[in-house]
Amino acid sequence: MIPASADPTTLADSRPQSPEAAEAVYHVREWGAGYFFVNDEGHAAVRPEAAQKLAIDIYDVVQELRSSGAPLPLLIRFNDLLHTRVARLNESFRQAIQRTAYRSRYEGVFPVKVNQLREVVEEILEAGASYRYGLECGSKAELAATLPYVASNEMLLICNGAKDEPMMRLMLAAQKLGKNVLPVLERQDEIRMLSRLAREADVDARFGVRVRLATAGAGLWSESGGEHSKFGLSLAELTALVERLRAEGRAHQLRLLHFHLGSQIADLSNVREAVEEGGRLYAELYRRGIWLHYLDIGGGLGISYEAGNPDAPGSINYGLDDYTHAVISALKEVCDREGVPHPIVVSESGRAVAAFHSVLIVEAIDVRRQAVEELPAAGVDAEATRRMHALEQAAADAADAEALAALRRASAALHQSALAQFRKGALTLEEKAAFDLRHRAFLQALRAQAEALALEELPPDLADLPLHEPDHYLCNFSVFRSLSDYWAIGQRFPIMPIHRLLEAPARRGKLVDLTCDSDGQVTDYISRTGHKHFLELHPLDPREPYFLGIFLTGAYQDIMGDMHNLFGRVTEAHVYADAEEPQNFYVETILPGALIEEQLALVQYFPNDLERRMGKMIQAGVRAGVLRPKEGVAMLEQYRRVFREYTYMNTSRTEE
Ligand code: PLP
Repeated sequence: MIPASADPTTLADSRPQSPEAAEAVYHVREWGAGYFFVNDEGHAAVRPEAAQKLAIDIYDVVQELRSSGAPLPLLIRFNDLLHTRVARLNESFRQAIQRTAYRSRYEGVFPVKVNQLREVVEEILEAGASYRYGLECGSKAELAATLPYVASNEMLLICNGAKDEPMMRLMLAAQKLGKNVLPVLERQDEIRMLSRLAREADVDARFGVRVRLATAGAGLWSESGGEHSKFGLSLAELTALVERLRAEGRAHQLRLLHFHLGSQIADLSNVREAVEEGGRLYAELYRRGIWLHYLDIGGGLGISYEAGNPDAPGSINYGLDDYTHAVISALKEVCDREGVPHPIVVSESGRAVAAFHSVLIVEAIDVRRQAVEELPAAGVDAEATRRMHALEQAAADAADAEALAALRRASAALHQSALAQFRKGALTLEEKAAFDLRHRAFLQALRAQAEALALEELPPDLADLPLHEPDHYLCNFSVFRSLSDYWAIGQRFPIMPIHRLLEAPARRGKLVDLTCDSDGQVTDYISRTGHKHFLELHPLDPREPYFLGIFLTGAYQDIMGDMHNLFGRVTEAHVYADAEEPQNFYVETILPGALIEEQLALVQYFPNDLERRMGKMIQAGVRAGVLRPKEGVAMLEQYRRVFREYTYMNTSRTEE
């Protein structure tokens, strides 16, 4: 036997590392924004206020939740972080306004689509009360949820999205009540509908319009903006509307101009350009007798999910203070140049407010190491295998990229011909298996040589060389349910173990989820240099469970998750910091995750009907003599109990 090649998924022997070294492995400084860090116990920890000492050990929280019976996966909401982020956003705008001597104010709104959970919205409103912070809704259901939360007549509720008559009527009724509820109209027919319904209800309606700016953002969500986006009025439509409002004496009704470039705007210069373009429109309308009170710059304020790599998809080239300063200074410049009053600035920042506060905790329940297979014994070497072996030896002597590429082409031809021989019966199963192993060894040798030559750029023939497959860490969660943006648009999230961080991780692994779908895995991790197909992880220890945290999931992820394989909402816990408590925190609420019967009902299966069918099947078994009646009764009971189970794996039972 030829010895197996060294296992490329092993990083090093387990050895101690400092908390700082652990932070460097997982790039915590880059994405943690001062909130997340590794503590002296080697656990992931969170400081609800970036500059303060009070910290919560995330591993302690998980242990406490488990001891109160909460199953994994678990979504932990650090609600203090919502407070911190709302204050930080508002204070940053306040400072930018002061620094630039802007002569109006900022009134933000939280777009509830980012996270509609009642407790989240209530927390944000409480944090924003002293800033006159409002809400944004984008559908009829969201309007129904948010309208009763409009506490004062000053607080803004901005309503985006397509509107039908019941939705429009509700907004007009709220205006009659004196509330500052502003429908943002995006289409001509909505404008006509509003005029008609306002006449019928005898309301002097106020509204905003969404415009399609020519400036488009860059990044994963850039299609929400630009002249060809699906949303908003064109400039020609805006001009026609202005003419009509003036002619009908309704110029005062148009209060707000809105645009939205897309979420997670990558480049600050796009923000500046959009504000300049929006500011020009505001000024032009002012000169035509329309005094918009508000300029609403939409969402898009990004956060750093990345490891400091400016070219990574989804990364941003600015911080929060850069953003607020760019917005306010650009708008001030335009208004001063045009000689018009400064409008109230509204932003609909969602991600930047909500992303930090929640961490998804998953448990790695099993590891599958990719077999390092033994290379074939000489007896089964076919001619093709011997030739492949010769190519492998030549790879070690290849002096440049061209030589490597020539070997790759030769191996591809050989691979095709071995396959043709197998189809025709000229190679046996054993011979083909031996050939495949030799082929894989050749590819590894080729990649090793490419790395040894430190080629700056691999030639196209080598670009797709297979990578060493990391260990598969089977984790108790669903990518489709809990990381929908990773699945849909490749948004990468910071992931790291939440304990054992004083032990250098010795394995290269990747997270695979419970779903029976090849997309149900995480194959792209944040890195300083580009795409990284593995995460540094620890070998599983049979004496204690291994927990990983998926961070910055508070925006969009838990609300957009789908039902692939009928995995449901995960259990969540609301945790608050409290310096008086021995461990600096208390758990306020545990919200149980969805049960199997709830998930089934969403796709029209109901326990009664299912039990009846199952009962019939069992009776038939009893009649056929394959089951005794008592066994049949127990089987039905066992089936019934499943309805009340959590949709994820019950790992506490596995441990028994
Ligand atoms: N406003 C509108 C109209 C949106 O479509 C969105 C989301 O894409 C937002 C606000 C929130 O954006 P972000 O989370 O990037 O701040």
